[in-house]
Amino acid sequence: MAGIDSESELLSQAREVMDRAYAPYSGFRVGAALEAADGRVFLGCNVENASYPVGTCAERVALGHAVASGARAFRRVAVASSGDRPASPCGMCRQALSEFGVDLEILSVAAGGEVRRWSLADLLPADFRLDEADPAGVARRGG
Ligand SMILES: [Zn+2]
Repeated sequence: MAGIDSESELLSQAREVMDRAYAPYSGFRVGAALEAADGRVFLGCNVENASYPVGTCAERVALGHAVASGARAFRRVAVASSGDRPASPCGMCRQALSEFGVDLEILSVAAGGEVRRWSLADLLPADFRLDEADPAGVARRGG
């Protein structure tokens, strides 16, 4: 069980990386601190683009860092945003995170300090699984 100290540490890392967000178009800055099962923390911030759909979210940047570093199991993700209310991960990020399990705690802190928490299973109750369309699991075995 993680204590409040590590929770506030994770939120503070999310806040710190939020300050490095590249968000000149929306002005909505987001930072994510993704805690792996082995205790390592991977950071990400949103990176916008002049071609809007090319931009990517903080959560998926953090997930990319984690996977590239060999992490495959995660405990929590802390999200900090510059908005007035705690932001939940967007649908695309929920699906991306669910690839590695829906037993993920999500903490989110708004600019004013308000914190909300969810489980990924609650936010994405029916995540897409390739094996549902592929009951023999051929696609997964191939990877
Ligand atoms: Zn997202």
